[in-house]
Amino acid sequence: MTSPPLTLMTVHAHPDDESIGTGGIIAKYAREGIKTVLVHCTRGEMGDVQDPAFVPPVPGMAMADIRMHELKAAISLLGIRSTHYLGYRDSGMAGHPENQNPAVFAQADVEEASLRLARIIREEKPHVVVTYDEYGVYGHPDHIMTNVVTTKSFFMAGNPEIRTADNLPPWSPKKLYYLAIPMERIRKIRTMEKDRDPEKLPPTSLVGTPEDEITTVIDVSDVLDVKFNAIFIHKSQIGPASFFRKMSEEQIQVMFAREYFVCKHGCRASDAKETDLFEGLR
Ligand SMILES: [Zn+2]
Repeated sequence: MTSPPLTLMTVHAHPDDESIGTGGIIAKYAREGIKTVLVHCTRGEMGDVQDPAFVPPVPGMAMADIRMHELKAAISLLGIRSTHYLGYRDSGMAGHPENQNPAVFAQADVEEASLRLARIIREEKPHVVVTYDEYGVYGHPDHIMTNVVTTKSFFMAGNPEIRTADNLPPWSPKKLYYLAIPMERIRKIRTMEKDRDPEKLPPTSLVGTPEDEITTVIDVSDVLDVKFNAIFIHKSQIGPASFFRKMSEEQIQVMFAREYFVCKHGCRASDAKETDLFEGLR
């Protein structure tokens, strides 16, 4: 039996997160010929249009359809080979009344959602799985739920006692990573925002990861243009006031030439930071 191709799976909550959070690693590994799989837990129904001049591709198009339309273009640009949807509704930002809607992802039954994802893991056979940290990067309830469900399914998928839909055989992914934003980058973002508009309070919801907790640093400088084009494809979400549109070429290079991760499972303990998510697997 031939072994499955090296595969990277990224699990996200909303269309645009794949490009903002992991556009660099997806484009880089896709370019290397590694199979890239994307899972979205929701279709981003609660997104607000961020650009007053935005014209939907079809008049009156629903938000989820607009975001699916944008996502399709980003998928093709990043080189994603396979995409899955867990089928939940967007919960909206923390504190929004929609958080309590029983159909939203934040209210999902963790066991059931994890079984759905475990089935996808068994089907796609990823070696490396990447998702948000426990805080969901900035506290979004769907990001936090994505972390919980992905971590649970990572281990469920390989457990022969657990039956998933379609009765697929177990598959144990080798490595689990959480996205990290180094403190240093958070400081730079705050300074940039303050310099631009001293009146505007810089974002405080981004917490960041202490540098010594980061295990893995991936150089994505060769694919930065692809990552940013994929971010900008999400036109409804990345308006003219977006921080991503305000950066100079140089700021983009300084801030985004690397993507950072914390290895939660499958890495050797080492003082040196990994420079490849597939280290030890090739
Ligand atoms: Zn999101």
